[in-house]
Order: sequence, then structure tokens, then C-alpha cells
Amino acid sequence: MPNYTYLIIGGGMTADAAVHGIREIDRSGTIGLIGAEPHPPYNRPPLSKGLWKNQRLESIWRKSDDLGVTLHLGRRAKHLDPRNKQVTDDQGSVHAFGKLLLATGVTPRRLPFGAEQIIYFRTLDDYQRLRVLTEGGRRFAIIGGGFIGSEIAAALTMNAREVVMAFPDAGICSRVFPSDAVKFLNDLYRRKGVEVLAGASAERHPGKRLPAQQPPGHLRRGGRGQLSQPRPGPVAACRTRGQCQHHGPHGRPGDGG
Ligand SMILES: Cc1cc2nc3c(=O)[nH]c(=O)nc-3n(C[C@H](O)[C@H](O)[C@H](O)COP(=O)(O)OP(=O)(O)OC[C@H]3O[C@@H](n4cnc5c(N)ncnc54)[C@H](O)[C@@H]3O)c2cc1C
Repeated sequence: MPNYTYLIIGGGMTADAAVHGIREIDRSGTIGLIGAEPHPPYNRPPLSKGLWKNQRLESIWRKSDDLGVTLHLGRRAKHLDPRNKQVTDDQGSVHAFGKLLLATGVTPRRLPFGAEQIIYFRTLDDYQRLRVLTEGGRRFAIIGGGFIGSEIAAALTMNAREVVMAFPDAGICSRVFPSDAVKFLNDLYRRKGVEVLAGASAERHPGKRLPAQQPPGHLRRGGRGQLSQPRPGPVAACRTRGQCQHHGPHGRPGDGG
């Protein structure tokens, strides 16, 4: 059983920042990191910005492994035994620690339909899946009008894809920007060709089964009860940061992060 001076659960930017912080004061203590994603820590912001322009994929890595960290990737911490200072991962391996950091971040809330046909855009794998879909798809629906939804809408539009955005709020980023800025953004996106459906929510089409390559959700104008036509192309569901739930090592909302 590995026994680390420091054990970090989570493989995101917080975990990487912790590794750098630890190394500033302790150059020799052993550090273990358990990360659910198959990748070492990377910068998330480029997934919705730079990588859709000229930024190279290689530039996103945070290189925490250069600082002498043992990475246990593609594993989810499942059980914490604080008395014996041990964590068990989902492959049954036990990791002992002196100090433990929970850096498990956030997980988007999931819609009650669509299953794996919807991309809940957050990870490098989500980016790569969407990128592949852009090679064949022409028209994309984005659910959510916060930072990530609007950035992906801009990225797809810049890459000559048609985009329809749907979100229940009055306008793009209306939870953080004043109304005149929101109006400016709505107008700008529309001028760039994005179909902006403010005050709209995505709902399952009642009683209708869709073919496998069609998006399972349909866009519904809030309050008016009109169902739009099915939209070709994949659906990327993007929730704003404020709508994320925190998940701890047991996968329960609210017990970590
Ligand atoms: C597309 C995108 C663009 C963004 N752009 C910006 C921006 O421009 N500016 C800005 O300030 N912020 C931006 N953000 C937000 C910023 O990236 C986050 O605030 C930051 O990534 C949070 O890092 P974190 O490590 O705390 O959590 P997370 O990024 O959520 O990472 C947590 C990691 O822990 C793993 N994990 C969870 N549970 C377990 C477990 N039980 N066992 C093992 N591993 C587990 C998860 O798989 C995940 O890899 C963006 C986010 C996204 C998704």
C-alpha cells in the first residue's frame, strides 16, 4: 500500500495548485494524487476558448508530474477512513496518507433526459468529443447561457457552425452582468448568426422517440408552451458555474469541493 506524506483527491487545477504550494515548502515529502479523469491536471479555460482558435493542445498541461507526484489517474476515490488515514479507490487500491486534501471540484447538474447524447461540457474528453462532432455536424444546440455556454457558442460560430442557444434567463450571462451589457451580448450574438432563445428551456418531447443521431431534447419557449421542431446535430449542455453542484469523494452533492 502506498503511503504518502500528502494525498490529493481530484486531478483539476486546484489539485495542481496544491502540488505547487506543497513543493514551495516541502521539496521531499511524497505526494500522491487520485484523479477520476484519465489525464494529468490541465487548464480548463482553453477548452472553451484558446483551443478553438490557435492554441495548441500541448499547452494546456500543468505539468504537476514534473514535481515528483505519483499520479493515480482514471480512478475515483470511493471511501475515506480518517481514523486510519486511508483512502480506497474504485479499483480497490488503498492509499495511506499523512495529510489529505479534497480537491474534487464541481459536477454539472444533469438534465432528466438525453443520457450520453448530451455533452455536459467540462473536461478535455468533452472538448475532444465536441471537436469530433464538429467535423460532421453543421448545427448545434447549446443549453445554458452562462460563461461556458456563451464561449462554446462563440467558438462554434467562429468555426462556421450554426448555433442555437437556449436558456431560461433573460439574456446571455444575465446572472452576472447588468441588463445593458446583457442586451449588448444578446444583440452581438444574434448579429454573428447565433439563434438566441432567451427565456427558453430544454424539455423532452412528450411521447416521441427520436432516432439515435438526433438530439433527445427539444427546445421549449418558456411560458408559451410551444415546442419547436427537432434540431439536427448534437446538443451540448453547458451549465453556468453557479448552477454546478459540489461533489465529494463519495459522489454526494455537498460533501466536498
Ligand atoms: C470549459 C471551461 C472554461 C472555464 N473558463 C474559465 C475562465 O476563463 N476563468 C475562470 O476563472 N474559470 C474558468 N473555468 C472554471 C475553472 O476551470 C474552475 O473553477 C476550475 O477548473 C476548478 O478547478 P478544481 O480543480 O477546483 O475543480 P474541477 O475542475 O472540477 O476538478 C476536480 C477534479 O476532481 C476529479 N474528481 C472528482 N471527484 C473525484 C473522486 N472522488 N476521486 C478522484 N477524482 C475526483 C474530477 O474528475 C475533476 O477532474 C472554466 C471551466 C470550464 C469547464
